[in-house]
Amino acid sequence: MSQSNTPRPEENSLMSKVISHAKEYGFVFPSSDIYDGLQAVYDYGQNGVELKNNLKTLWWKTMTQLHEQVVGIDASIFMHPLTWKASGHVDGFNDPMVDNKDSKKRYRVDHLLEEYAFRLELEGETQRAEDVLAEMNKLLGANDLKGLQEFIIKEKITCPVSGTANWTEVRQFNLMFSTQVGSVADESSTIYLRPETAQGIFVNFLNVQKTGRMKVPFGIAQIGKAFRNEIVARQFIFRMREFEQMEMQFFVRPGEEMKWYEQWKAQRMKWHQILGIPADSLKYHDHEKLAHYANAAVDIEFKFPFGFKEIEGIHSRTDFDLRNHQELSRKKLQYFDPEINQNYIPYVIETSVGADRLFLMHLCHAYTEEISGEGEERKERTFLKLHPALAPVKAAIFPLTKKDGLPEKAREVMDLLKFDFNVIYEERDSIGKRYTRQDLIGTPFCIAVDYQSLEDNTVTIRHRDTTHQERVPIAQLRQHIGDEVSMSKILRELQTV
Ligand code: ATP
Repeated sequence: MSQSNTPRPEENSLMSKVISHAKEYGFVFPSSDIYDGLQAVYDYGQNGVELKNNLKTLWWKTMTQLHEQVVGIDASIFMHPLTWKASGHVDGFNDPMVDNKDSKKRYRVDHLLEEYAFRLELEGETQRAEDVLAEMNKLLGANDLKGLQEFIIKEKITCPVSGTANWTEVRQFNLMFSTQVGSVADESSTIYLRPETAQGIFVNFLNVQKTGRMKVPFGIAQIGKAFRNEIVARQFIFRMREFEQMEMQFFVRPGEEMKWYEQWKAQRMKWHQILGIPADSLKYHDHEKLAHYANAAVDIEFKFPFGFKEIEGIHSRTDFDLRNHQELSRKKLQYFDPEINQNYIPYVIETSVGADRLFLMHLCHAYTEEISGEGEERKERTFLKLHPALAPVKAAIFPLTKKDGLPEKAREVMDLLKFDFNVIYEERDSIGKRYTRQDLIGTPFCIAVDYQSLEDNTVTIRHRDTTHQERVPIAQLRQHIGDEVSMSKILRELQTV
């Protein structure tokens, strides 16, 4: 039942705090904000882009540097239209939708029914809620649009905006965005903005295998934008119309796919945990209804403030994609396996994670409100407990005052660190205010340069999570900070998985 889209009130409030924090401190802005935004499209600000880049770099390095048999590519967003015929997206990438005639609002039928079931559960009608979900899954599985329509009417489901049950017929709605290439706007020039990055990998399978002399099993990784005309677009950057995927297709010998599926499933779960997400905030969710191309599929879900939700999918895609591309392109997409002296179309295990959902997971997990002391001593502090390797800024350097040579000394420290880490210099306001500003963006270290620094070349380091302070020689700063924030340290941990 955690699948419902209706958050409980306290979850709502945590989510709204995270959303306003993201905007106020330069992580995520609504797209075209001055025009009041564009629904389900967002921009990353000065801190957000650093956090997102750190996540992408870690994923990329894990895949390509830590796995000798995985290489990366960067394919185009536009692809030959037949790609999407072969992948099944032209005919099958649909969601059943229904419109309310009074409010003119359009809904995904599964979302309407899930919300209804969630409300039933809140009212204590657990059995009925389960029955509603079971019936919904049955009808969706059978692609029974008429049945879904009758079910909505029978259950007297109303539109949350108009409050009426004045529904149109249930129709399929394709989620791909299309546009025209060239100047002639006829059918043949219609192309799509890719709804997933995976197909760019499949069509390059042979190019990479041949030019890289790759031997099965091997993988191809890619990070890139994907586009879906999501109808119910909400929950901030959880469901966007333009988003970024990090996908890896691992090509294996037919018959060996389940072994690799289990291996990737375990590795990907461990990856999230090593980046600081507690094991009890993550879970597997096996797909009950498998997609047409899969023979096994599981989601890794994170406990968002609005319930456990998918962040990553691991799918055993059989040879579906390569086989269909072979058929439509009339190009052989086979591999000759010298070990068994056989030609075959490889089977594929896919790991697919959204960079934006990963970002949201880390933001939700890191957002911390801390209360310490009592009475007059009571203090409240908000900070982002991000893994230091992910934090947008690694250290902030503060001269205690703006005079007496302290700014110059602080600039020296800055020059010592700026080639290795993203560091910033700040001299405005009191030290306390400067600490607060860095806490709010998750900077793990603040380095204060004071009068003693001029005498003995030491500085004070303040640690974000404990607010503990220690005196460190300037000469040891690089090593001291590097030990905590460096990508190589976390990659070493990831290597053990
Ligand atoms: P959902 O059921 O939530 O719509 P999905 O099963 O359609 O997701 P996949 O097609 O498996 O998702 O895509 C792989 C990953 O891409 C997802 O786990 C998610 O992290 C990300 N993703 C998919 N759709 C979106 C979106 N609209 N906005 C942001 N990220 C997305």
